[in-house]
Amino acid sequence: MKNKNSGCCEDKAEVNGEKCECSCNCGFLEYPDECRVPEPEDPSEKADDEFLGRLEEYARSLGISNIGYARLTPDVILAADPPYRNAVVLTVDMDDDLVLTPPGREAREMNDRLYEKLADLTFRVADYLRINGYGAVAIHPLSGLIDLPLLGQNAGIGFKGRNGLLISPRKGPAQKISAVLTGISDLPYGSSDHEWIPFYCRRCGRCIRACPQDALVEVETCCGSTVLLLDDRCTGCSDGCTRCIESCPFYRKDYENIRSAFKRAAKNQG
Ligand code: SF4
Ligand code: SF4
Repeated sequence: MKNKNSGCCEDKAEVNGEKCECSCNCGFLEYPDECRVPEPEDPSEKADDEFLGRLEEYARSLGISNIGYARLTPDVILAADPPYRNAVVLTVDMDDDLVLTPPGREAREMNDRLYEKLADLTFRVADYLRINGYGAVAIHPLSGLIDLPLLGQNAGIGFKGRNGLLISPRKGPAQKISAVLTGISDLPYGSSDHEWIPFYCRRCGRCIRACPQDALVEVETCCGSTVLLLDDRCTGCSDGCTRCIESCPFYRKDYENIRSAFKRAAKNQG
């Protein structure tokens, strides 16, 4: 069972009287290093704008959709002690075919393929950093080491929604996320323009109602309500279920239109 929102009492919430423990997602905690380039022996910690421009250009040429930079704050670290405290955050878009294919074997295979693709691209971005003299460790998109949606939020790419997914202006909740941890210490860390999303989510709750497995459960904690994902019910990995994506207004509608309508409504309500 995994808490999809971060909070001070996330591992103490209860569902039906049972204590809920956080756990890793449907992947593994760690994945083998499939980089082809070894870690540099004396890695550099400084990168200028020109290099980062080339890095981003390279990542986009591979098929990466979004790139951001974030520090690893304690709340994003789910297990172990990461080798570096800075991250290049990467996303790839989920296309409509994947999101709209009903849960089942076909959807699962499409979902698996996208995870494999992003994993491969992540190792290649890590190789690029290593070959240029920087320490780099790829974080697989299914890794349970890091809360990747929260890392994406910290990079300013979007904000974690009530469905526990990163909601971005580009694709709403329809993207996969990975990261490359690096020793570069002067990255242009992102800042968020998306803090309004949780307020919108509070009034929405469609993902919770749409989940066919009742895997998204709202519970009360000492800090208010939070949404837990019950891993043993969720069929996102086993069947390629994407109902919590498909039902989200951010998937179907334009981000800026939702934002302006929400701000207008909030203003009218005083
Ligand atoms: S992937 Fe499907 S089963 Fe899992 S939380 Fe989303 S809607 Fe529910
Ligand atoms: S469906 Fe609604 S509550 Fe769920 S993440 Fe999307 S906006 Fe938030």
